[in-house]
Amino acid sequence: MQIDPNRLIYNPALRTDRRVLVTGGAGFLGSHLCEALLARGKEVLCLDNYFTGRKQNIAHLTAHPGFELLRHDITHPLFVEVDQIYNLACPASPVHYQYNPVKTIKTSILGAIHTLGLAKRVKARILQASTSEVYGNPTVHPQPESYWGNVNPIGVRSCYDEGKRAAECLFMDYHRQNGVDVRIARIFNTYGPRMLPDDGRVVSNFVVQALRGQPLTVYGDGSQTRSFCYVDDLVDGLIRLMEQDGLVGPVNLGNPEEFTILELAELVREMTGSRAEIRFLPLPADDPVQRRPDIALARERLGWEPKVPLREGLRRTIDYFDDWLRENPLDGPRTPPEA
Ligand code: NAD
Ligand code: UDP
Repeated sequence: MQIDPNRLIYNPALRTDRRVLVTGGAGFLGSHLCEALLARGKEVLCLDNYFTGRKQNIAHLTAHPGFELLRHDITHPLFVEVDQIYNLACPASPVHYQYNPVKTIKTSILGAIHTLGLAKRVKARILQASTSEVYGNPTVHPQPESYWGNVNPIGVRSCYDEGKRAAECLFMDYHRQNGVDVRIARIFNTYGPRMLPDDGRVVSNFVVQALRGQPLTVYGDGSQTRSFCYVDDLVDGLIRLMEQDGLVGPVNLGNPEEFTILELAELVREMTGSRAEIRFLPLPADDPVQRRPDIALARERLGWEPKVPLREGLRRTIDYFDDWLRENPLDGPRTPPEA
């Protein structure tokens, strides 16, 4: 067969946005994102080191012709050809990110440097999964993107908070200095199926405790607040931000309905029909007192707002964990492996 050499010459006009790298793709959010991208006709390269992610989360995608899996640790550079990058690799639960805090901050900072370097090289658009934690214990409520935050730089949460803040800085500097096409999403507490049952985050903890008939562990007096976004809404917001031209961000993505942690515990007890007691335990250090996103920017520029109310999202999450516990009746707490 004759090969026409002209067809082998790189033509930027023929560039597509089809090939997408998702770092942290085997995790909770990442696995839902991979699924949604495949459903939109993208080719997905899912990268993970399986620290908190599981092959089980993406097992149903492996037969898809557009799906590819890569075991890689993002603290090391990588060379792949892609058109878009979603950088999600980083443990997100306080229990997991405090397990090896040095590794956590390396993952945020080196992960940002390596994915941004890749984006620069292959001219890919790149989205950073940042977090409401950049606002720390906020003194402005609800939190708009213009708020600079109130973060303890030397506390037990700072490996995560400061790592994500440094990553935002790197994203903006690669954008200003090198013209990299970046997007920054500030994600607020998101929940749903495929969270780890012993993830340590509040929704999965309460649901699993209630289903097992164990006491629901409320830290502090439960008066601290959070706003809970269902995973499908969040993934829709991430994709809209990636696809939107001319909007770098940061953009808050979260559900603006705010609940106290005690209200959440009572709702989970009611919805599971559990008679388990509520047990009050000491509040962890630097636990933010209140958190609620101002999503005016996402509404205006992305036409995005969450659609799934807490009760509906909790119903789906409870059903998921109910099935999971039936299939894994003897599964005890899982200690994350050394990454
Ligand atoms: P998760 O722990 O389920 O997913 C993180 C994934 O990253 C896992 O699959 C893990 O194995 C992988 N990972 C961790 N370190 C890695 C490394 N060094 N190299 C390669 N892979 C690595 O958490 P999640 O809730 O899915 O969060 C995904 C992203 O979204 C994180 O960056 C997190 O900070 C951000 N985020 C999540 C929330 C939320 O409420 N879920 C809120 C704010 C921000
Ligand atoms: N929390 C709780 N019991 C738990 C787990 C968490 O009361 O079993 C509280 C925690 O102290 C915090 C809130 O729930 O005030 C949300 O915690 P999570 O770890 O889910 O997320 P983050 O603190 O990062 O928002």
